[in-house]
Amino acid sequence: MNDSIYVVKPSLPPLSEYIDEIADMWDTGILTHTGPKHIKLQSELERYLNTKHISLFANGHLALELGLNSLELSGEVITTPFTFGSTTQAILRNGLKPVFCDIRDDDYTIDCDKIESLITDKTCAIVPVHVYGNICDVERLEEIAEKYGLYVIYDAAHAFGETYKGKNIANYGSMSMFSFHATKVFNTVEGGALSFSEDSWVQKFNGLKQFGQIVKTDEVPYVGTNAKMTEMHAAMGLCNLKHIDEYISDREKVVKLYRARLANHKGIKLCPVDENVKYNYAYFPVVFEEQETGVDRDMIQKELEKYNIYVRKYFYPITNDFEIIKQLGYYSETPIAKYISDRVLTLPCYSSLALEDVDKICDVILGLYED
Ligand SMILES: *Cc1c(COP(=O)(O)O)cnc(C)c1O
Repeated sequence: MNDSIYVVKPSLPPLSEYIDEIADMWDTGILTHTGPKHIKLQSELERYLNTKHISLFANGHLALELGLNSLELSGEVITTPFTFGSTTQAILRNGLKPVFCDIRDDDYTIDCDKIESLITDKTCAIVPVHVYGNICDVERLEEIAEKYGLYVIYDAAHAFGETYKGKNIANYGSMSMFSFHATKVFNTVEGGALSFSEDSWVQKFNGLKQFGQIVKTDEVPYVGTNAKMTEMHAAMGLCNLKHIDEYISDREKVVKLYRARLANHKGIKLCPVDENVKYNYAYFPVVFEEQETGVDRDMIQKELEKYNIYVRKYFYPITNDFEIIKQLGYYSETPIAKYISDRVLTLPCYSSLALEDVDKICDVILGLYED
């Protein structure tokens, strides 16, 4: 192992496949504006995710921001602070107040037992996150949403292709956002999507991502922006989608080896495996609990760096610790999220990661516990 190992490495199709896919663009001159590749990717994703509608966007964040925007909400949104900044920023950019709910201490998803006490007459929606590809308690969330008349908009950036009890995760809630960023399980370099079943939203999302205009008409009924996915990006998606099952099964081998090496070890806490979920093995988070062992997260990170292995404190800090959240007066305590965020590292996990390298990473980690 000579090269540095980073926490993620993009999955890329063979270069020749990408060149073949984009070649006709030099004849057609269609580079963007809902061209044929965009349309094809949209329908292939509808098929792959087994969902009624997919709307593509320039990135996952804008998909979430515009998804929330389309619902014309006001007031408070209950969400998790244990996520990437995007989730909280999408809420803020819609002029909504994020109300932070603590997470479960095993899979780090929103704790449904704590949601109801946060609901007020201003609450309009819940934005949970299938964090690390761990699926939220979708059944409880559905019950709560129904009881109080709330929208549920999932940040499913980590959950591409996953199923819960055989049903694709794209089909839960009012809508779900997927990110196709270079580092995600399925990528279009930059890109994202919303999945949903409401037919009338198709036109609305098309308008919101194209300057508020209804495509191929002169009508401008929305306050829109520019969030279109280009043909170059859609072409990358078409190529990567052909290989997605390989990418996921390669990741599965990586994750299974990590689990075999690191499970049942004092001071090393892994997420449980839910038998109802078909995973995409997006991330491998480990919580290092120093209390009994004296080995803490920072020691692990520093030791790995000696071997040119770079891991990430993902997610640290939690989003309710952001300066802007405090300035706006939106801070509230979420002790479990804080505890996990102070101890978690995501280990390198990507489809081309060699199993020998996984062993090496585990050797370095376990070596710290030996003396
Ligand atoms: C990646 C990510 C996003 C944002 O997606 P982009 O495509 O990078 O804009 C949002 N939420 C979570 C949890 C993410 O990991």
